[in-house]
Amino acid sequence: MSLRVFNTLTRQKEVFVPIAAPAVGFYTCGPTVYDFAHLGNFRAYVAEDLIKRYLIYRGFQVRHVMNITDIDDKTIRKAQSEKQPLNVITDRYIHAFHQDLNTLNILPADIFPRATEHIPQMQAMVDALLQRGHAYRQDNSVYFRISSFPDYGRLSNLNPENLQSGRSVDSDEYDKENARDFVLWKGYRENEPWWDYHAGRGRPGWHLECSAMSMAYLGNHFDIHMGGVDNIFPHHENEIAQAECASGEPFVNYWLHVQHLIVDNEKMSKSLGNFFTLRDLVTKGHDPLSIRYLLLSTHYRKLLNFTFTALDQADRTRKRLQDFLFSLEAREFPAGETPGFKSEVAEWEQRFRNEMDDDFNVSGALGVLFEFIHAANRRLETLLKQDIREIRETIARVNSVLGVIREPETEALAPELEALVRERERARAAKDFQRADALRDKLEKSGIQLIDTPDGVKWKVIDSP
Ligand SMILES: [Zn+2]
Repeated sequence: MSLRVFNTLTRQKEVFVPIAAPAVGFYTCGPTVYDFAHLGNFRAYVAEDLIKRYLIYRGFQVRHVMNITDIDDKTIRKAQSEKQPLNVITDRYIHAFHQDLNTLNILPADIFPRATEHIPQMQAMVDALLQRGHAYRQDNSVYFRISSFPDYGRLSNLNPENLQSGRSVDSDEYDKENARDFVLWKGYRENEPWWDYHAGRGRPGWHLECSAMSMAYLGNHFDIHMGGVDNIFPHHENEIAQAECASGEPFVNYWLHVQHLIVDNEKMSKSLGNFFTLRDLVTKGHDPLSIRYLLLSTHYRKLLNFTFTALDQADRTRKRLQDFLFSLEAREFPAGETPGFKSEVAEWEQRFRNEMDDDFNVSGALGVLFEFIHAANRRLETLLKQDIREIRETIARVNSVLGVIREPETEALAPELEALVRERERARAAKDFQRADALRDKLEKSGIQLIDTPDGVKWKVIDSP
């Protein structure tokens, strides 16, 4: 079976055929670094991460570019309100963003280009658009002439009656009912950062940044472009117009969009008090991998309703997975292999793949995984060492896609806890079991549960009693 993805451009599921398999060019719109990213942003980043990980699992060589918007209306406003240089503000939030990606076990992009470091590429694109008659100067700014691009509106299904060509808009954000010639290059305004340019010194518009940086690293024509549904118009519509008019080539083959996250059935907003950053939830004591599990377990094209009840449920479900793996580690199985078991496990994995191949149907895929664990658990008494290895390797492959299981061996302990673990091992070696048990209790009170396995002691983090 082949992988099928829902393409916003054609509004249907299509077989995914890369331009130059196994290579896949993959661009995702990154953060505007004027504040901490919120849970809605991370819903999109986690969904994109799941899709990227699945492409890798499927054997594609993904080249992932995620831009960092470090110059736009919002970053400038923030720097002005804090009376700080722009780069002090943006460096702070870029650093925080990378920490947050790591917290959520999101694989980093291969390249995180910053807008301020790609001004020459953006200016070259504006030059090309001016030369080809797709752009015009007005005052000190340059605008894209949407009437020069008949395909304008195809991605967002724009009603042509709402096109107001010849009327221009300076703001980066506007709605579909107000589609106008949008700004490519913003002429200098007082107290704003600027770069020299022959049309007048100034700074790039937000939409231009993504077109220029994606093409700089993925070429004029590449495979997948992702972002939130709120990016479809005007951002991605404008990206297509700029890119195709500047290069004369098609821009992107597959446009994938992630639906919104809402909280308790309401739009997340600071005024409603239901606005959360990732940091807010981690500070409240929620396990980041359970947050990840919750964010990825709803299909990316469905609205995700975040509630704390759902988060607790996600936490329990995810721990069932982890506990199952620990239970395999914690005991010795007789040597040997059950005839036919290997191909049975392979069939389960194929079913997981079939679900994911259907436009990344993650709920179906998770259903298959839990059925598999349930079935394996029921037969655990009869399984042999080689069977267990099959199970563990299969789950490890599945987890390379999901990224929700913490490997016990990789869990780093605080040095003082590590010292207690070693001390207990010495006590056990000296057959001082009373001392060893006392140390085990002490560790459990610190939230560390020890598991003695045939390969030595392992541990997992538990909720402190
Ligand atoms: Zn973008």
